[in-house]
Amino acid sequence: MELHQLVNTLGQDLKRRHGQKIHKLTLHGAFTCPNRDGTLGRGGCTFCNVASFADEEAQHLSIVQQLAARRDEVTRARRYLAYFQAYTSTYAEVEYLRAMYEEALASADMAGLCVGTRPDCVPDAVLDLLAHYQSQGYEIWLELGLQSAHDATLCRINRGHDFAAYVETVKRAQVRGIKVCAHLIVGLPGEQGMDSLDTLHKVVDVGVAGIKLHPLHVVAGSTLGKAWQAGRLEVISQEEYVQAAVAMIRHTPAEVVYHRVSASARKPTLLAPEWCENRWSAMTAIAKGLTLEGAQGSALGHPFVLPE
Ligand code: SF4
Repeated sequence: MELHQLVNTLGQDLKRRHGQKIHKLTLHGAFTCPNRDGTLGRGGCTFCNVASFADEEAQHLSIVQQLAARRDEVTRARRYLAYFQAYTSTYAEVEYLRAMYEEALASADMAGLCVGTRPDCVPDAVLDLLAHYQSQGYEIWLELGLQSAHDATLCRINRGHDFAAYVETVKRAQVRGIKVCAHLIVGLPGEQGMDSLDTLHKVVDVGVAGIKLHPLHVVAGSTLGKAWQAGRLEVISQEEYVQAAVAMIRHTPAEVVYHRVSASARKPTLLAPEWCENRWSAMTAIAKGLTLEGAQGSALGHPFVLPE
């Protein structure tokens, strides 16, 4: 079976609810991050090199210019979500955020916003702003980088926040009806086989609308990159990742939307693992594993069924 028959993916969830295909357009809001600018720390999270997943040149363009460029790369959609991805996209005064978000929403083909940020950088004023857009009919996702629910791991990777900070922000978003997507990484230093599944259970227990999953990418320019180059870091194999992802997806309630079940990165930015150069091989193996063991939610007794 194919992945979309086994997993409640964002693409099909959006199509079902909006009646047409909606594509995410990635934007750079020229933000920084409190874990880099000295407010919390300077080194950043040990796995992070923003240039490995964001187009740093884009920050010199206006939001409208970036949207125009991104639209040209997408031919299969007519409506879009503006995805503020790079760094901490709520890390500014709320009036600055309002101007930036509304520059994106001003275009008639915009269905809404996805805002990526840290759990400890989401004041009530930002949640109220996002709730306001949602009340106007926009699709709104608050994407929170959590990576692990284990405080020992969060400390080890220098996140600068704990799991309690994530829980507190999720609760304040839930009060306002804002959908939260948790970003999780499998294969973080010090974590073993079932630690990721334990994280999944904790995130589901708190309540979550979406999950974005990917293996640890060791990238050039990151602290972990240096550790790997010095031979001090083991990386996860594709088999281990697929096993963990299949278990996590099977334990995820069918109504939770998967924004991603794996991710790739390119050399030379990607140092390891090599298999992460090709996203499709892991995704094909995950689909195979779910076909054999059961679809999303099957471990809870309520498997995902592709709607007619
Ligand atoms: S992962 Fe996010 S919070 Fe961590 S250093 Fe990078 S931009 Fe900052």
